Amino acid sequence: MSEETLPAQATESTRPEIVLGANVSIAKTGLLAAIQETLNYNANTYMIYTRSNRGGKARPISEFHREEGLVLMHEHGIFDPVVHLSYLVNLASPKQDTWEYGISILSEEIQRVEYLGFQTIVFHPGSHVGQGEDYAIPRIAEALNGILSGEEKITLCLETMAGDGSKVGNSLEQIADIIARVEHQEKLGVCMDTCHNYSFGYDIVNHFDEFLEKFDQTIGLDRLKCAHINDSKTPFGSHRDRHANIGEGSIGLEALRHIVHHPVLRGIPQILETPGGKYKSEISLLLNPELQ
Ligand code: FE
Ligand code: FE
Ligand code: ZN
Repeated sequence: MSEETLPAQATESTRPEIVLGANVSIAKTGLLAAIQETLNYNANTYMIYTRSNRGGKARPISEFHREEGLVLMHEHGIFDPVVHLSYLVNLASPKQDTWEYGISILSEEIQRVEYLGFQTIVFHPGSHVGQGEDYAIPRIAEALNGILSGEEKITLCLETMAGDGSKVGNSLEQIADIIARVEHQEKLGVCMDTCHNYSFGYDIVNHFDEFLEKFDQTIGLDRLKCAHINDSKTPFGSHRDRHANIGEGSIGLEALRHIVHHPVLRGIPQILETPGGKYKSEISLLLNPELQ
């Protein structure tokens, strides 16, 4: 089978309204493991890390069983899988070697993900480690300008953060500021994370439409390409990043259901990153309003 002809997803005409899945494992068989886990959850998308967050050499992407995986995804109607970049990348780092490491890892990841035929890489904008956001924002943009040629086949999504530690990209304005400084803006998107947004101080429980309006005014909703659906172990505005299982945190099932079913998120991959082992029941809870 030729590399160019295989679609990374089922045909658009069969795309479901809600594209929902979880952060799954690529242990041993790469995409085949990820897809099997996804099918176990009755999900129709998924997210993977293609390399360990503990560092070390990445497993060769040629060992991910791409061709069989793409066929399986096509057969089972799995859409737009997402890759999350390693946590070890910090494009805001004031340390030159750390910053350059991040640039090389992200550049390599773009090639790996293009090989898989996926469309989306999600990454954390960065941490300023004491230098402040006025230092970090141009630093991140400089890294992205060094990486992006404009020829990429993927979209790089900046994830909205919780305001913990020295993270940047917490507010919609900060995300917009980074994007505005990047030359190939057409390659950039945004991934919202419900836990992070609520923890940072966006009241997505009571005022989700206002959040979306603000998103549209500052960034533009056309950049919303992915969502992380997590409950939060910590209260509104706590600036902490502790994911809770769906319905067991301060956001709650009703609000998360409302978000998952919202027309603005229709058709974009929505990914759970909640604590261990409950994805199947969580996805079922989110999809079926009759369940409690
Ligand atoms: Fe993330
Ligand atoms: Fe996230
Ligand atoms: Zn998080």
